[in-house]
Amino acid sequence: TDEALIAFDTLTDRAANLIQPTLRLGVTGLSRAGKTVFITALVHNLLHGGRLPMFQAAHSGRLARAFLEPQPDDAVPRFQYEDHVARMISDRLWPDSTRAISELRLTIEYESASGWNRFFSGGKLCLDIVDYPGEWLLDLPLLGQDFSEFSLNATSLARSPVRTDLAAPWLEKAQSIDPLKQADEADARELARLFTDYLRACKQEERALSTLPPGRFLMPGDLDGSPALTFAPLPNLPDTSAPKGSLMAMMERRYESYKSVVVKPFFREHVARLDRQIVLIDAMQAMNAGQEAVMDLERALSDVLSCFRPGSGNLLTNLVSRRIDKVLIAATKADHLHHESHDRLEAIARRIVDRAVATIGVNGANIEVLALAAVRATREATVRQDGEELPVIVGTPLKGERIGGELFDGNRKTAIFPGDLPRNPDSFFEAVDSHSQPIVPEINIVRFRPPLIEESDTGVKLSLPHIRLDRALEYLMGDRLA
Ligand code: GDP
Repeated sequence: TDEALIAFDTLTDRAANLIQPTLRLGVTGLSRAGKTVFITALVHNLLHGGRLPMFQAAHSGRLARAFLEPQPDDAVPRFQYEDHVARMISDRLWPDSTRAISELRLTIEYESASGWNRFFSGGKLCLDIVDYPGEWLLDLPLLGQDFSEFSLNATSLARSPVRTDLAAPWLEKAQSIDPLKQADEADARELARLFTDYLRACKQEERALSTLPPGRFLMPGDLDGSPALTFAPLPNLPDTSAPKGSLMAMMERRYESYKSVVVKPFFREHVARLDRQIVLIDAMQAMNAGQEAVMDLERALSDVLSCFRPGSGNLLTNLVSRRIDKVLIAATKADHLHHESHDRLEAIARRIVDRAVATIGVNGANIEVLALAAVRATREATVRQDGEELPVIVGTPLKGERIGGELFDGNRKTAIFPGDLPRNPDSFFEAVDSHSQPIVPEINIVRFRPPLIEESDTGVKLSLPHIRLDRALEYLMGDRLA
């Protein structure tokens, strides 16, 4: 059974942990949330002695050495740290985003503050970083739904006002097909393609929706084109069981294999073995897209958190991680805002998380919230306009970015007024709940190039600048370096 397998893995990990203390840190978030950039910045700062004042072990000078080592799991692709760093620092371009699961082991030698730890582990911690698409977590609820429930949920979600125009091509086709007709591969493929196109469209910037299962449709990993992904929900299903040889039977079987060969093993082999978890969210993008996107982000967070915390609304507890004792939800890309707004972003993110926690009825203890920028691409300044001092951020827009009709070539710096977040999160959520648009004044999200890394007087390259990355590290691993 799943429980037995998980229990066995846990025992094996515990035994290994006695010999070599290890912390398995999961890094997730929906696509483009900033996972690749976060991991690259984290590792770079630890390898190169970054400025991390709020990370106690670093601040007190107890970090002796950090280095990369071969990862423990041979069957998982390696996180391509070197490629990502080269692209970010040498080319000053953003790295390729996460498409599937990957792993990296960073070993940290430190001077323990306690003699006990020093005696047992020699002050050495292996940090195993596991990067995986947040989309895959959103599949957990599917395990509790049979094919007709899945079809019903997917169809009613597709008919909601913010989605209906995007879902139209798929829904029209799906409604025109009799589910009891003879199974046909061409039908299955076309329906799967139209359904995937619809999910993809929901993800686009203007809608910025988050709850889009099945997760592998948007992030197939190495399963692209396999039968387990060639299915789609069917509207208008009859109340009877699927006749043999029918399209309905074919779709049902594939949906069931999706759950048993894709979803379950992922949870069992990967999520169940994590010790700590960070979930990155792009709250600003959701706020810019409007009330529906914020509510959808909240719904997605509920689903994500129920993978890490058994709750009253969660019946699938045998696959829920029991090991993760700390979860950090981080609102990323805070360098798009002036520092006065960092705390406001954090307050709004905290509310979104509180609401998600309340919905699923889990214990919110040890779920922390932070606003951060893993890589700070901007610096702050003020400009004088009409006798007033206005806060701005300065950066180099990516080649091809347009601001107010002006096209940038990737070599020129510019200052922009980033926009403000509401001082009071209450007013923000009143606007969300009362469906008023817009919920915040537009935040100006310009895509800047990664920063130029300066050299110190002695010619040493400094590490990547960030905002509050040190606080994230302290929360996620500070206690393990004590
Ligand atoms: P992933 O899909 O979660 O792996 O997302 P990435 O890490 O690839 O990030 C997606 C994009 O978001 C990047 O290409 C950057 O444009 C942007 N981004 C991510 N993190 C930061 C950050 O800390 N600061 C800024 N300015 N942009 C970021």
